[in-house]
Amino acid sequence: MQIVISGGAGFIGSHLVDACLTRGHRVIVIDNLLTGRRENLAHLADHPRLRFLERDVIEPLPEVEGELYLHLASPASPVGYARYPIETMLANSLGTQRLLDLTRRDGATFLFASTSEAYGDPLVHPQPEEYWGNVNPVGPRACYDESKRYGEALTVTYVRQFGLDGRIVRIFNTYGPRNDPRDGRIVPNFITQALRGEPITVYGDGTQTRSYCYVSDLVEGILRAALTPGLAGEVINLGNPLEYSAVELAVLIRRLAGSSSPIVHAPPRPEEIARRRPEISKARRLLGWEPQVGIEEGLLQTIAWFREQLALPASAVVDGT
Ligand code: UDP
Repeated sequence: MQIVISGGAGFIGSHLVDACLTRGHRVIVIDNLLTGRRENLAHLADHPRLRFLERDVIEPLPEVEGELYLHLASPASPVGYARYPIETMLANSLGTQRLLDLTRRDGATFLFASTSEAYGDPLVHPQPEEYWGNVNPVGPRACYDESKRYGEALTVTYVRQFGLDGRIVRIFNTYGPRNDPRDGRIVPNFITQALRGEPITVYGDGTQTRSYCYVSDLVEGILRAALTPGLAGEVINLGNPLEYSAVELAVLIRRLAGSSSPIVHAPPRPEEIARRRPEISKARRLLGWEPQVGIEEGLLQTIAWFREQLALPASAVVDGT
């Protein structure tokens, strides 16, 4: 099968590229390398079934053809989308439309990578797909949350209007090797700090929770959501329902990294999300999917990857070059 992956040089996207190639598919990556990193695909240089287009998904790309379109292109961390808010909004709005139009032209299948942030600061816990969310349309996360919500609305509109086979996954917090050390997320921050012996920075009182899914589990879920027949119009949460506070994660990472870094409290982020945990019974039912990798196993793999990265000259880690 020919699979087009926008954002294929990103953290999740690049793992998805690996999985598709391993299964024998042909892959076209569209990535403008805004937050994606060429090095995430460096191990696939000259792969005969991979084509890399350094292009922005908001451009018309009539030369691209596929049987399956996976739209992951967008800055995705709070630091990333705060740095590139307009690009984020365009990737999820115009970019989604561009790929929906190509999907329609090709009679293909489309999968939109949405986010748990579509639920905002949720008033329902854990979050099932039926929950509409609690999002501030003019808040600091709005460029991401609202453009992802628009992308969802556009996808289901194409399903209803044109009978297109479009699916949506709402991805909860994910971690693993290739987590960008510069993107400010909790796992790369804490691991980098722990390995360098620097203070581990817990924002606010650290009682805020997230549920952390290892990247290989997530990729399996995405592929099942994309390839299982009969899921047009479905919205499916993908994440690990095990929930940890920021302080619990700091203590765990410090122990697993064999670090003696102090755990310190930094100022809270504006409009911090208090709690987040996926309800995944729909994924279990429709995809036969649930996470397999435990938090300790996943974090040990991730710490091992960061150890290798940090062994590089410091500039290579900071610049991602
Ligand atoms: N966090 C933290 N210290 C950091 C980075 C993040 O305490 O150095 C916390 C943050 O307050 C949030 C959680 O980690 O509660 C997850 O943040 P992240 O940016 O990874 O993703 P989010 O779920 O907020 O999009």
